[in-house]
Amino acid sequence: MTTLLQKTTNILVQKFGGTSLSTPEAREHVLRHIKRELARQVKLVVVVSAMGRKGDPYATDTLLDSTAQNGSVPSPRERDLLMGCGEIISAVNLSGMLVREGIPAVALTGAQAGFITDDNFGNARILTIRPERVLRELEEGKVVIVTGFQGQTENGDLTTLGRGGSDTSATALGAALHANMVDIYTDVEGILTADPRIVEDAKPLAFVSYNEICNMAHQGAKVIHPRAVEIAMQAQVPVRVRSTFAESEGTLVTRPDQFVDSPGGVVDRFVTGITYMTNVTQITVTEQEGIDNLSLKVFEAMADNRISVDFINVTPHGAVYTVLDSEAQRATTLLQSMGLQPTSLSGCAKVSVVGGGINGVPGIMAHIVAALTGQGITILQSADSNTTIWVLVKKEDMVSAVRALHNQFELHL
Ligand code: ADP
Ligand code: MG
Repeated sequence: MTTLLQKTTNILVQKFGGTSLSTPEAREHVLRHIKRELARQVKLVVVVSAMGRKGDPYATDTLLDSTAQNGSVPSPRERDLLMGCGEIISAVNLSGMLVREGIPAVALTGAQAGFITDDNFGNARILTIRPERVLRELEEGKVVIVTGFQGQTENGDLTTLGRGGSDTSATALGAALHANMVDIYTDVEGILTADPRIVEDAKPLAFVSYNEICNMAHQGAKVIHPRAVEIAMQAQVPVRVRSTFAESEGTLVTRPDQFVDSPGGVVDRFVTGITYMTNVTQITVTEQEGIDNLSLKVFEAMADNRISVDFINVTPHGAVYTVLDSEAQRATTLLQSMGLQPTSLSGCAKVSVVGGGINGVPGIMAHIVAALTGQGITILQSADSNTTIWVLVKKEDMVSAVRALHNQFELHL
């Protein structure tokens, strides 16, 4: 294997997301990117997602709905078997298109491409990749199309990698193959300073560091999955996020020292982007006569019941924190069973100002407060770290909060 890996150099991994594969026109764009790279004499591995989004005939959510029609609930193992179908349909379609063009190609499942995962069905973790088959096919001069999102346990059961899993397939394969680059093709120009669905004048970033985009992804920017970035960062494989529907180079994700001399000269920025996450509930518990160590009891109870908590503020008078809306009922019932009287505010959103250099910048919180109160937005809670400042707002204020912060930090310029 080592010899084959040493021999096979100049590998490019391309990943195409759901919308990039959803229509025949979109798939012609995909073909264009494949042909352009082949003309540069690279060895090409193409990772594909399922075609389209919820509602489209072969999208993952649609496949799941198909069993609901029978009133049956598949086991986690069989759910994964079903969920993996969408990528197989994509891969076979694309390899057929390449062969039609006279380009030798082969479609491989995650298992055939050597993805070995644990058996945490629905959210499996890649343990290793055995890329011998991929390398062999590349050496034979084929474009290797690999189904994203899929793996296999050591026992041979098909597993899926969770939401955004195809991004992870692509960077993990890029790392295993020592690829020159992993190109993530999607329906936007690259990584922008905010979700363009919310901020019209969000600006594409020419360069971002692994850390910057990892933080943005963890805080809700769903343009790339955080796990995918972590894997690329560990292996030091550069990643480009770019549009299927345009020719632009998109955003290069790499180490900061790789872009110091870039024309963008972006190393000095202290805010990279604004992100958001909806569907969180704020829970407040206040001290009560007869109950000692209130906070300890509250957080132990949450941990014992595997309810993940965020945005924690503890004071001598009680505790306030957030949980996902979907866990809120369970959390409050639990607190009540402990004799507490929690109050909860559902439908909140967490808005984050993410940047490499936020720490210690004087007046940054004043800027944030000014921007939000200027729009009449109530800040329910706030917190900060070296790289991020979070504010909790009501869901109905989320869009104007993201826009106001984007403006305040002049990210459109
Ligand atoms: P794909 O199907 O290609 O994986 P996704 O829907 O997962 O595409 O990711 C692309 C989407 O991410 C964009 O359409 C955009 O709305 C959203 N997005 C959220 N935040 C950002 C951001 N900061 N920059 C770019 N896109 C973002
Ligand atoms: Mg995606």
